[in-house]
Amino acid sequence: MPSGRTSHATSARPRRPLPLLLLGAGADSASERGVNCPGGLPPASDPELVRRAHAARKALGDRAFILGHHYQRDEVIQFADVTGDSFKLAREAAARPTAEFVVFCGVHFMAESADILTSPHQRVVLPDLAAGCSMADMATFDQVEECWDTLEDLGIAADVVPVTYMNSSADIKAFTGRHGGTVCTSSNAQRALTWALGKGSKALFLPDQHLGRNTAVLQLGMSLADCVVWDPHAPGDTGGLTPQALRDAAVILWRGHCSVHGRFAADCVHDVRARIPGVRVIVHPECVHEVVLAADLVGSTEKIISTIEHAAAGSSWAVGTELNLVQRLAKANPDKTVVFLDKTVCYCSTMNRIDLPHLVWALESLARGQVVNQVTVEPQAAAQARVALDQMLALPA
Ligand code: SF4
Repeated sequence: MPSGRTSHATSARPRRPLPLLLLGAGADSASERGVNCPGGLPPASDPELVRRAHAARKALGDRAFILGHHYQRDEVIQFADVTGDSFKLAREAAARPTAEFVVFCGVHFMAESADILTSPHQRVVLPDLAAGCSMADMATFDQVEECWDTLEDLGIAADVVPVTYMNSSADIKAFTGRHGGTVCTSSNAQRALTWALGKGSKALFLPDQHLGRNTAVLQLGMSLADCVVWDPHAPGDTGGLTPQALRDAAVILWRGHCSVHGRFAADCVHDVRARIPGVRVIVHPECVHEVVLAADLVGSTEKIISTIEHAAAGSSWAVGTELNLVQRLAKANPDKTVVFLDKTVCYCSTMNRIDLPHLVWALESLARGQVVNQVTVEPQAAAQARVALDQMLALPA
């Protein structure tokens, strides 16, 4: 979708699955969003970029509020008024009703959540609309509706409560709200799944199978056999499962994953232990089950940050999460050894779409009165998604 247009989410009509957004140079309106920036994108080599960003920021003053996700580049995060994970940032946006523009340095589903939680007069801007999330794209509206139709045909939908991770599109959050479910984050997945299994006898956890499995098995004490994986690409209409397997399962996991956290393997944990004696390994719960089992600690982005901040001087840490954050943790904790868990460098490529040229372009456009890359969620979908987000806020402690 070209920049300067509005990005919509809807749940009222069937949608074609979105193609995965490809990275690359040049305008390709069929497969890339955001590469056509009206007014011209400053070149990445422009030595004036930092000065221009400061100038545009100053010109906007309190009219703009800039949110920066922990996985953003250093060159971008330096301009954030607040940093955090997706949920914290959505709440921060909602707590700034006077800001006319909320500039979200993160990915598309986060900007959608900010639009749902902010007031109607506020405009949420994503500096590059190509900043999507491969995990969120793994559960499309049509696929999830087809899954639900099957559960209804089998007579078990009434027992199933959907739980969707924050990392999902507004359409999927709206589906969850319509069917009496809740949104969750990596910090409250245990409470969300416990709540869902108290309300119904089964949960449909989407789109991240790993967060769902790690939560069910390691935090709720369920067995791996209690969980089945619904594959939206399997032939037939039962997600590659037998009707009996669906009837017997306590948790139906959606076959989605994070392409960044999914890269870590148990061997990475063994290797780092051999290389750094006494190292402690902390990983995000989006990592595969075997990695989480091999690690010393598992926790959300916020928990990883606070664990390392409070660790003893001289301690060593290998961290299994996005590389921008690990590098900043290493810089902010010079009295500790902080290394990336994998030997291979791996950034989140879509998070990295937000770079300084796009931020400068968005801020300068806003400063001269041109709203670009606004992300909006259609009112009906927003209202239904809000039900699921509010349910998350009301989860029992
Ligand atoms: S780190 Fe993973 S879940 Fe987060 S935006 Fe990137 S692909 Fe999506």
